[in-house]
Amino acid sequence: MSRVAYAERRYQPHAEAVTPIEDRGLQFADGIYEVMEYFNLHILDAEEHMDRLERSLGEMHMPMPMSRKAMLHMLNELVRKNVRRHGLIYLQVNRGAGMRNHEIRPMKPIVIAHILPRRTPTAETYRQGIKVTTAPDIRWGRCDIKTVSLLGNILMKYEAAQQGAKDVFIFDEKNNLRESSSSNIFIVTDKGIIATPPRNHHILPGVTRIHVLKFAAELGIKVEERMISKEEVMNAKECFITSTSAHVLPVTSIDGKKISDGIGPVSKQLLNHYHHHILNITGEACPIL
Ligand code: PMP
Repeated sequence: MSRVAYAERRYQPHAEAVTPIEDRGLQFADGIYEVMEYFNLHILDAEEHMDRLERSLGEMHMPMPMSRKAMLHMLNELVRKNVRRHGLIYLQVNRGAGMRNHEIRPMKPIVIAHILPRRTPTAETYRQGIKVTTAPDIRWGRCDIKTVSLLGNILMKYEAAQQGAKDVFIFDEKNNLRESSSSNIFIVTDKGIIATPPRNHHILPGVTRIHVLKFAAELGIKVEERMISKEEVMNAKECFITSTSAHVLPVTSIDGKKISDGIGPVSKQLLNHYHHHILNITGEACPIL
């Protein structure tokens, strides 16, 4: 088997893995997901991802479908059974399958997992940074829960792509920054302070965000978790986004306004720190700029 997935409580060829038509994940987006990176066969930040999974499920009034130990064992087996040494693990837990109605009731949860290729940007993209657009938030009010209900994110990213941008910065009704369609956002102010929007119901608490906050503290850089106006974002000295798949990725243009000429010194330091973090966990070097 070259590509193996986990579904129906067993490992099977990816092409044969299915889910029932009455799966509430399909019918109501009633499910939670996680995306984890593995490098040199080691799952990165597995405990942090399990913490967030458990929290998201709790907010949906769902228990963990199996113990954390059993879940991690299943994910490690999945990595082992696939041919890639480096990749992403996609994990989804749906409430269950049954007669369609809106009631929340105890059900047998549906767990699916499979492997995706790594999506790490090229060295050139890290050096140059990406262009983004801006948009008002059209998503629901609980973006802190990692649900599979991502239509708002998808539509906003589509609009950005139509304008030749890689991502979209999402703002609230008072023009304060939230996050991007699939990443958390940080700026470096003219005073050299790192600022990022605070944790609340409108952003996903990113695992990479936790690390970047820690790295900044280690580097002795002052960090503020606070509201950031659109004006402040547009006038930032540096800007970058963070996510499991893109790590620390510079943003060099917002709505056509230039922020910096390629990756800035603070973004570069944090990206290098992230690569050291991977090296520490996996014993294998990740390319450093
Ligand atoms: N915000 C959103 C909306 C996301 O989808 C993601 C995950 N891609 C993130 C932030 C970053 O989270 P993490 O660092 O855990 O990947």
